[in-house]
Amino acid sequence: MVIRFRDYGKRLSDFEEEILVRCPQCDAYGGLRLRSAKILTVNSEQSSPSSIKRITCQHCSYTKQQPKDGQRKAVLLLWQNNYKAQRNSSYGILDHFFGLPLWLQTSCCGQVLWAYNEAHLNFLESYVQSRLRERLPDDTLGWHNSSLASRLPRWIKLTQHREKVLQKIQQLKQRL
Ligand SMILES: [Zn+2]
Repeated sequence: MVIRFRDYGKRLSDFEEEILVRCPQCDAYGGLRLRSAKILTVNSEQSSPSSIKRITCQHCSYTKQQPKDGQRKAVLLLWQNNYKAQRNSSYGILDHFFGLPLWLQTSCCGQVLWAYNEAHLNFLESYVQSRLRERLPDDTLGWHNSSLASRLPRWIKLTQHREKVLQKIQQLKQRL
């Protein structure tokens, strides 16, 4: 059976409603109690297109809200610098709202394989598993190049990496 992947033009931002990151508070226990926290999108007003992000850890109840736009850059920078300085090591891929290391990331084929959440992992899995990849036009934009599938790095798409990438995706799923 040919496993088919249909590109419906999903974008990375479609997966941003929930992002798993390393909890800065749990992380403070020398890695012994390392846990994931979630960044959730919170809609302040139903009709408003702008939404705020809140980080929340279900293990230690750590919570923090993304600063408002005006202060955002400065506060984010401070937060990121503090985080990096305290730990003095590289944490690979960071989320771009709070600057925290993604929970779902691992080295793979000399690169870093990462995902925001389970849905994102499933998306990557179905893409890599498929032998037939079809692109479909977006309802409003028609044929376009901004879909996540069309922007995946080449190494993920290579046939010789398929087994390795799928294996790593399984490992990441065990962290969920
Ligand atoms: Zn925590």
